[in-house]
Amino acid sequence: MRGDNSPLTEASRYLKFSWADLDLLPERGKTVSMPSSGALYLRSAGSFTSTHSMSFSPVKARQALPPLGYCAFCGRDKDAKGKALKLTDEHIVPEFLGAGIELRRATCVACQAITARFESEIARHMFDPVRKHLGLNGKSGVIENTNFPADIGREESDRVFIPIIHYPTVLVLPMLFPASVYSSRSSDTDGLYRLRMHNINASKRNLEQYEIGTLSTQAIDTVRFCQMIAKIGVTYAASKFDPRTFSPDLMQLITADMPNGTAQASHYNRVGCIWDSQDSATSDLHQLELGTIDWLGQSMLAVKVRLFACYEMPSYFVALN
Ligand SMILES: [Zn+2]
Repeated sequence: MRGDNSPLTEASRYLKFSWADLDLLPERGKTVSMPSSGALYLRSAGSFTSTHSMSFSPVKARQALPPLGYCAFCGRDKDAKGKALKLTDEHIVPEFLGAGIELRRATCVACQAITARFESEIARHMFDPVRKHLGLNGKSGVIENTNFPADIGREESDRVFIPIIHYPTVLVLPMLFPASVYSSRSSDTDGLYRLRMHNINASKRNLEQYEIGTLSTQAIDTVRFCQMIAKIGVTYAASKFDPRTFSPDLMQLITADMPNGTAQASHYNRVGCIWDSQDSATSDLHQLELGTIDWLGQSMLAVKVRLFACYEMPSYFVALN
């Protein structure tokens, strides 16, 4: 695990945690942070004040918010020839995470193609078994696969396919350093210091049936993860404020195609955690709050994004302007 101030290299775009000894797996049904020890590089950060909130219950509820009438990400409502752009509805939290609230007519086809790409990558690589276990359905309903690849490699990936019933399902989300625009962290630096994980189903006994003695969590693509969090923040905030006043850097993060294998670090400039945010378990699946972050005498519009709040997962803060 990295967590220093060095520039982000290709290798540290993808992060995972490995257990060489399965006795060290967290207890089933428990949420822990890993690595559990190690020096924390403390930097000062702003504080968040909430003004609006939205919660998502574990039972998917459909709701349509009033139409935006232009693209929340590029701001356009017309094409280069002055013709009205086709706009489609945008889910505030991606549908694959079991959320049904959408902002109507809020994205253009070009931006939607990019955001759909990183969302489908994240859905498959980070959440497939979790969604199966928790019964979260996306657009296409239940996930058809019944065997999922478990990673038993340490540095490199080494996959073994395991039926979902015994699949070692661990919900894993990254704990990020505070973003550079609201903390003393310098821009374009690495920003993950721990992984927060909830053991749904992993046990040494089940893994031994498949002669598996080591296990890794799925690798998190930190670039695409931050793109997804930024997109959630902007889409929610666009239901209350004009997103064309938000930071162009943030929009660029959401609409940039970041191919696998390229190193990036600017994704941590506006997306991060805040040390003192309270992350106790709630009855909601996901929670969003809109408010402000105060930092160095400046107040900026921000969204707090908390996915899987009922599993004590971390809160992310997206600085909007
Ligand atoms: Zn657009």
